[in-house]
Amino acid sequence: MRINKYLAHAGVASRRKAEDLIKAGDVTVNGEVMTDLAYQVKSGDTVEVKQTQIYKEEPVYYILNKPRGVISSVSDEKDRKTVMDFFRHIPERIYPVGRLDWDTSGLILMTNDGEFANLMTHPRHEIEKVYIAKVEGQANKENLRPLTQGVKIDGRKTKPAVYQIIKQDISTKKSVVQLTIHEGRNHQVKKMFEAVGLPVQKLSRVQYGTLDLTGLQPGEFRRLSKKEVSQLV
Ligand code: URA
Repeated sequence: MRINKYLAHAGVASRRKAEDLIKAGDVTVNGEVMTDLAYQVKSGDTVEVKQTQIYKEEPVYYILNKPRGVISSVSDEKDRKTVMDFFRHIPERIYPVGRLDWDTSGLILMTNDGEFANLMTHPRHEIEKVYIAKVEGQANKENLRPLTQGVKIDGRKTKPAVYQIIKQDISTKKSVVQLTIHEGRNHQVKKMFEAVGLPVQKLSRVQYGTLDLTGLQPGEFRRLSKKEVSQLV
């Protein structure tokens, strides 16, 4: 495997950044500084970055149904529950692909494949994500229309989204709306609903590209098949 791809797969950096490390002389193969960007890593090669040996694990991919109240990062300085707590017995060094808020539940991927994670979260990849939001207020065609055209959040317009009203409770003035987006900006769904005057009370991601949560209760996960991974990339 080409050296930059190898480093990306090992989660060291993106392929481009890995090339920068090689150009900077930070990468050695079998003790020699590697300057050949096209070098093919062979089994048995010892690759080091800044004197730290890189172990390339078999890439693994998991889908987790994250419960609410769980942080989607590898560690938490306040020692709160993180997605890693579900994977204690997994030998690979996996981490979440992108983020879900602490109080958002639903579908999140976990992997040790840095290149895959970079691709999935790159804005150009535009993977489809489907959310179910319980919002305060009466959702209707008029107040939801701006979401289909793009609303300004953090000074930049969102790409057109698709909505479907699932439930309208006239007595409690709450609604349930499904929203499909192709971006992954910070707190995007909450901010989009906020922008149309329908603050989110509860949020769940139910679909990510071709994947959904069929068969997975909150807190449960399973490994993705090769076919499922290839359908995402
Ligand atoms: N949008 C949000 O606002 N929060 C999430 O967790 C995911 C998408």
